Amino acid sequence: MSPMAFRLPFRLLGIPIEIDLSLLIVLPLMAWLIGSDVMVFAKFLGLPANSPLWQGSTPFLLGFLCALGLFVSVLVHELGHSLVAQRYGAKTQKITLWLLGGVAYSEEIPRTPGAEAVIAIAGPITSILLTGLLWLLHQATPTWWVGTQFVLGYLGLVNLMLALFNLLPALPLDGGRVLRSLLALTMPYARATQIAAQVSTILALLMGLWGFMVLNVWLMLIAFFVYTAGTSEARYATLSEGLKGFSVRNLMTPNVEVVPPQMTARELLKKMAAERHTCYPVIDLYGKPLGLVHLQHLHNVEPEQPVRDFLQSPAPTIGPEASALEALKQVSQSPLGRLVVVDAEHIVGILSRSDLLRAIELQTVEQDLRRNSQPQR
Ligand SMILES: [Zn+2]
Repeated sequence: MSPMAFRLPFRLLGIPIEIDLSLLIVLPLMAWLIGSDVMVFAKFLGLPANSPLWQGSTPFLLGFLCALGLFVSVLVHELGHSLVAQRYGAKTQKITLWLLGGVAYSEEIPRTPGAEAVIAIAGPITSILLTGLLWLLHQATPTWWVGTQFVLGYLGLVNLMLALFNLLPALPLDGGRVLRSLLALTMPYARATQIAAQVSTILALLMGLWGFMVLNVWLMLIAFFVYTAGTSEARYATLSEGLKGFSVRNLMTPNVEVVPPQMTARELLKKMAAERHTCYPVIDLYGKPLGLVHLQHLHNVEPEQPVRDFLQSPAPTIGPEASALEALKQVSQSPLGRLVVVDAEHIVGILSRSDLLRAIELQTVEQDLRRNSQPQR
């Protein structure tokens, strides 16, 4: 759980619900914004302009109810996704409500072709159904219940906007997922993600430009969110697709050459030239890794200086059963781009960034070949 979030004491459809603290700041702000513009909305909804409800502090109470209703609407939208995802066997781990709406975290996207599109479209459909329900309630409410009419009418509009906004074909919005899933029916998933991400980037830039021209902060904020979340999602999708099902053990180089800490710089250089390696784990007598030594460490050292003086310590380590995706996360934080694989404190191999990138590329090419050979079957 994010440190900036708290969990509601109940579950919905068996799913834990988290509230991000950003929401607690934005809720009163929205209540105030809606309350300040209460007359504009009332006029739009065809409600009488002379109602006493538009005076004093009542508009802010109405604004608060609307803001609260907005987030409940977002929650219902996310539950719509989760309900359909469950039918495909994809469990939702949690739903988080935050500043810009809701996110449902699922274990992984089901591999059934088109499933992602169905799950994605379920959200906007839920919101449209909710719009219909709110409209019916609005119609059934006596005209003299002006406050109820206001809240129902406002939330009906909000849900319609929510559906339309989410249908924009930009990742990570629902429309972007539908687009990707449909593209993936005819091409590899990673390629589909790339195209969907390109569409998202263009849309985000247009949205940002528009927001800048009309000086709408929300629009700019959402454009920024779509831009960053879309690109990182695209990157993650490509990587996780390529590394799916691999563990560190599958991709590491076993029986790795090691050096003792007392080896001198001169000896190490000779070894590097002979074996054409640029990086070695340094281990003690018991096989326990002490650090990593790289060709770049040999600049500005004395020829007789022992390795222990200039190695990078401690060595970044990972277990052989860790997932390749986890390894990729760790390797990107390691300055030498390598992880020492240790099992019960003993070195069993080494894993480099290029091992992982090669695996991703191999997997991508293999999938392309498999897809290309399908029509002949
Ligand atoms: Zn959605």
